[in-house]
Amino acid sequence: MPRYDYRCRACGSTFELNRPMAEANAPAPCPGGHDDTVKLLSTVAVTGTASGSAPRPSSGGGGGCCGGGCCG
Ligand SMILES: [Zn+2]
Repeated sequence: MPRYDYRCRACGSTFELNRPMAEANAPAPCPGGHDDTVKLLSTVAVTGTASGSAPRPSSGGGGGCCGGGCCG
């Protein structure tokens, strides 16, 4: 679970939260109980999904004739 850093604009304290990535932008109250917090840029490792050339599933070729408009 990634860790995010937040800073409270009410009291100026910074704190960390371990929360799912889906809740990264959700409001995070500071330990002092303030809701006016902002998320800081943290060093969350982002792994790129650089895949190779994937075969295109829909190009009409491969046996069917409906790809070229001869079935109409
Ligand atoms: Zn606070």
